[in-house]
Amino acid sequence: MTSRVLLLHSGGTIGMCPSPDGYRPLDGFGAMLQQTLNSGTAAVPVFDVVELDNLIDSSNLQPSHWTTIANELLERWDQFDGFVVLHGTDTMAYTASALSFMLRGTDKPVILTGSQIPLVEQRSDTIENLQAAMLLAADTSIREVCVCFGRRLLRGNRCSKLRTRSFDAFDSPNYPWLADIGIDITLHKERLLPPSIPAFTVPEFDPHAVIVLQFYPGIQARMVEAMLDSDLVRGVVLRSYGVGNAPDADEPLMAALAKAVERGIVMVSTSQCIIGGVTQGAYASGAMLNRIGVAPASDMTLEAAFTKLHVLLASGMNTTDIRNQFAQALSGECQQVVDR
Ligand code: ASP
Repeated sequence: MTSRVLLLHSGGTIGMCPSPDGYRPLDGFGAMLQQTLNSGTAAVPVFDVVELDNLIDSSNLQPSHWTTIANELLERWDQFDGFVVLHGTDTMAYTASALSFMLRGTDKPVILTGSQIPLVEQRSDTIENLQAAMLLAADTSIREVCVCFGRRLLRGNRCSKLRTRSFDAFDSPNYPWLADIGIDITLHKERLLPPSIPAFTVPEFDPHAVIVLQFYPGIQARMVEAMLDSDLVRGVVLRSYGVGNAPDADEPLMAALAKAVERGIVMVSTSQCIIGGVTQGAYASGAMLNRIGVAPASDMTLEAAFTKLHVLLASGMNTTDIRNQFAQALSGECQQVVDR
């Protein structure tokens, strides 16, 4: 049976055109894309294109866009075998991660792609990325949310944008590529998530609920208190040093964090290093975070930890359960075993 793939266009460089102020989204890009793919020689599955009403540069992404994108996909879920989401590269890893938690246990491929050079410009990487994404979206052995970009298929919640000026903008430092895209497309099936039971949740997000707090030399307790002193904040992703270390000699700073945890804010820790992860407690300076009640987020990317926290909070889960969910992978986002 022929596979049918939906292309959902949300914005990004792929569909932009030059303007006096630089690249901007081009309305009607979906129709142009349809025409280009239909008139070209590109071997692609049968497809339909849907364009969101409000195309954005993905630096304007808000958590509400995740709800919109997931709803657009789910409205058409039964009509297609796979889905390709066209998205700007700047925040593609956030959306891929968010969708991986919202469409947990997906039984169909959901593949995000975009480009570094718009389709309308010379030397665009659009067709190459899109063609690979569409072929992979027609492969029913993939049951997860992925990013296909620059000749590689990556697990969506394991990847980050690491390069601004190369075609291979994305990588997943803590998980091997799911497919290598060369003369052949080599899908590494043993690296894919196993089939599981769909547990979809498409919540309304509170955009202010989660903040990111990075340690740096000279960080001040006063500034951290000011950030945490808002009723809006319910979750914090800490960017700790190395294997999960904190400036524990700064007592007022540690007290500010402890006070926030006592007030019910869920605090999780990711490493500022992109390779490896946190082993909170390997050093006394990290053990302090254990005592405060900060949940270590293993080898998760910032994007994965941030969106996991958002999705769990928006789904109404309580603080203790959310903390426990960080000790395990929900959608392949981290190593299962976490030191606590
Ligand atoms: N600023 C653009 C965006 O994220 C960059 C890109 O798509 O490559 O929408």
